Formats: sequence, structure tokens, C-alpha cells
Amino acid sequence: MFTETIVHAGGDSRGPVSESHALMLLRRALNRGFGSEATLNGGASIRWTRIDLTTHQPVLRSITLTPEMPVGTLDASTRAHLALIGLGDARHVLTADSRHIVAGDTVIPTGETARLRARRLVAVDDRGRVRLTLAARLGLLARDHTQAGGPDSFAMCSCGLTTSAPSGEIAGNVQRGHRQRVLARFVESIDAAYAAAISSR
Ligand SMILES: [Zn+2]
Repeated sequence: MFTETIVHAGGDSRGPVSESHALMLLRRALNRGFGSEATLNGGASIRWTRIDLTTHQPVLRSITLTPEMPVGTLDASTRAHLALIGLGDARHVLTADSRHIVAGDTVIPTGETARLRARRLVAVDDRGRVRLTLAARLGLLARDHTQAGGPDSFAMCSCGLTTSAPSGEIAGNVQRGHRQRVLARFVESIDAAYAAAISSR
């Protein structure tokens, strides 16, 4: 679940939306050419401008998606487990004394399995299939593409992309464009199976 905050002419409105609705919003933003960025908390921000019909001036509009539980700190071990689960085919296994996830050849112990579920980083369906939540995927994406500080006219993304520009503002805009393309590619890469899995909840 996410909270959707819409900034429109009349002010802000907010309400709860499902994962599949959040994905629909991201896909719609992509189709309309709106710039969207993943956020570290596992949400996204979608921004566009619209010409106000009264003043004929461009006005900024936005939709912010905030996960019900922020992704929070991900240590190396958690990230490694999420990466394995993200490959697909992970299963939640129940035995007499254990409830753990098996991802490939790796067994994620009961305690860590419980933490991943409690933090809403993974979801388990009624057949025991485990998937990353949309919030986890967005949070990982944002961590892979965080802008690091630098001199005014120089900016660097955590993926290694560096930008040198006449001003810090231009460098920042280039980096933002890069993050928007990264999210666009991510949204395009979401396959039908994943979209179906989040819709079936
Ligand atoms: Zn990057």
C-alpha cells in the first residue's frame, strides 16, 4: 500500500492506493512523458507542468507515492537477500520449526525472513511464492542512483555517472534527467507476471 499525494489547483489531496494502482500511475506517467523519480523511502515522485487555462501560465503538478512502511536502512546482507529474491522463483517454506525463504541455493533464515516480511520488503502469496514489493524495488533503484555532492558544477550519481556542466543547476538537471530515464527503464522492464502478482492481492 502507498499513500498518494496529489498537488493540484485546489491544493493537496491524499489517500491510500494499492501497489497495482501505484504501478498504473507510474506507467501512465511514462506514457505521458512526465518525469518520475524513485525515492529512497521506496516511493516515487511524478512531476509535470500544465498550462493554467485562466492565466495561461505553466503550473507545476505532482503526484508523490509514499509506501506505508518506508524502506529504511538496508545493510549489505539484506540487500544481498533482496537481490536473490529479485531474481525470481523464491519460495516461502514452512516446516515444523522454521518459516524461511529459499532463493536459488540460499536459505534465508527464519529471523531474517520474518524481518523482510515485517518491513514489507517482500510479499508472499498463498502458494508460497515470494516477490519483492514495489516499494522494495523502488527503494533499491533509488539507492543505486543517488546523487552525491561535488563541486558546484560537478555532480555524480552513485552508479558512477558524472556530469560536468557550466553551473551546479545544470549539472543537477542532467543528473535528474538520468534518474528519470532510470525509472522509465525500470517501469518498462516490469513484466506481466510481476504486474499480475501485485494485482492479485
Ligand atoms: Zn545513476
